[in-house]
Formats: sequence, C-alpha cells, structure tokens
Amino acid sequence: MHLTNADLHSHSNVSDGTLTPEALAERARAQGVELWSLTDHDELAGQARARRTALALGMDYLTGTEISVSFAGQTVHIVGLGFDAENAALNEGLSATRSGRRQRALDMAAGLASVGIEGSFEGALRYVGNPELISRTHFARYLVESGVCPDTHSVFRRYLTEGHPGYVPHNWARLGDAVRWIREAGGIAVIAHPGRYRFTPTEEYALFTEFIGHGGRGVEVMTGSHSPAEHIRYADTAIEFDLLASRGSDFHAPGESRTELGTLPDLPGRLTPVWEALEPRIERALA
Ligand code: AMP
Ligand code: MN
Ligand code: MN
Ligand code: MN
Repeated sequence: MHLTNADLHSHSNVSDGTLTPEALAERARAQGVELWSLTDHDELAGQARARRTALALGMDYLTGTEISVSFAGQTVHIVGLGFDAENAALNEGLSATRSGRRQRALDMAAGLASVGIEGSFEGALRYVGNPELISRTHFARYLVESGVCPDTHSVFRRYLTEGHPGYVPHNWARLGDAVRWIREAGGIAVIAHPGRYRFTPTEEYALFTEFIGHGGRGVEVMTGSHSPAEHIRYADTAIEFDLLASRGSDFHAPGESRTELGTLPDLPGRLTPVWEALEPRIERALA
C-alpha cells in the first residue's frame, strides 16, 4: 500500500524560515511531498500563497500554523492543521500571541549588549521577513553572520536559551486557548515535537492529559526534532493516549535544517495518521 508522503510542519520567511511560501512549496514538491502544510509560528499570512502554489504544483494542501504556548514554565508548540484560515477568533488569538515579540526582541538585544554584543536588534531585523514575527532564529542568524558563533545551534546553546544572556522569559498563549482556537476553526490540534521539551514525567503526563481535556487530538511522532529512539517512544505515547499521529520535517532553511522536506521515515503502521481524520479538510490539487 502506498503511504502518503505528508510533510505537515515547515516554515517560510513569513515566520523564521528563509524561503518564501512559493519557494518552499516548490522545494517540497521537488522532494516528493504529496500532502503539505506551511506551519509558520503564530501567523497565517503565508497560507493563501502556500495553498495556491501547492495546488498549482500538484500537491495537496492542509492549512497550518504552530502556536507558541506557555505550559509548566516552558514553551510548548501546538501545531494546528486543517482549520479555516479566515476564522476570526483564531486570527485574533494569533495576533495577540505575536504582539509581545518586538518588546521581547528589544529585551533580548539589551541582554546581549550586556555581554558586549551590540546592535543585535537591528542586525536581527535584517533577517526578518515579517515585522510582527521577529524570533530568536533571526538573532541566531545575525550572530552567525557577525562571527560570534559558527552556527545557529551554538548561538542557541550559548546565548538564547534559559540561563544565557539573550534569553528573555515570555508569556505565550495558554494551552486551552490555543487548542480551542484551532478546534473552533474546524482544525485538529497536535502537540509539536514532544521530545524537545524538558519536562519531568509528571509534567509531560499533565501536558498530554490537559491537551486532550481541551480537545487536542494529535501528536507529532515523526519530526526532524526527534531521534530514532524518540520516534518509537512517541509512537507508543500516541497509542497510550489514543492520539492521531503526525509527520513533519520542521524545515526552516537550506543548509540550516537537519531534516529535508519530505524525507522522514513513514509513520509506523500501527498509528492512525492525522491526515486520515482531516480528509474532508484537505484541498486537492487538480493535477
Ligand atoms: P522563538 O519563537 O522566537 O522563541 O523562536 C523559536 C524558534 O527557535 C524555534 O521554532 C526554532 O526554529 C528555533 N530554535 C529553538 N531552539 C533551537 C536550537 N537549539 N537550535 C536551533 N534553533 C532553535
Ligand atoms: Mn522555528
Ligand atoms: Mn517548534
Ligand atoms: Mn516549527
């Protein structure tokens, strides 16, 4: 049986990727992706362009976003798929979630200046494609360009994560709100890359049970953020909590992202793909 090559997690320059939605669609198609979703952080501005290009290229499309949420003292990402991109409450919720990013970036730049790294706000801005979406990734690219670190991963490790000078705690959306915005817009909420969080087992259990209590239905099993062991571990979690399973590269930029679009292993056969439950929401390419 043919398994759909679905890639339901990727970023354009409407958030912290480097390719336009059109170029990203072309790259996904060239990599053999058959069902694609652009999931920019807290933002839907790229959806119409992504959808139009995907369908023209012969690729099926699901609307997408990745919402930043604060839970138990950490940032958790919730991917929404197959919603109505015109839904007012979803758009208002995302707008509110984006609103603190500029001040946060100014505070990050002040922290970096305190260790002698000047001009990082202006430097990061040069990498920003959407003024409402300045992110840590843009700072990381600037710090690589200016020779402070050899690659973006070391920038995060040395400067942009908790306990380091460019890190600024932030209040993102609440878990229940993010899930509700997605659900009430007709989509399915998915816990993104669960292996990335640093929760205790008790906290992780609370994340999954509260997520399900709010009406969340999916978990990313195959993601560029997971090791092979985590692919197995979260396949088991999907079964344990009776969740739909998703697959997405989390591609951001050529030469920067570890995982290329459309190249992850297929979902294990014992799992139910989230795109089966989203069948009526998939926009079908003509060709
Ligand atoms: P922000 O939403 O501004 O907090 O930025 C979060 C983004 O930073 C994530 O979506 C990733 O693209 C990127 N990121 C987070 N941690 C790392 C890391 N350790 N290495 C590279 N990129 C990272
Ligand atoms: Mn990102
Ligand atoms: Mn993420
Ligand atoms: Mn992502």
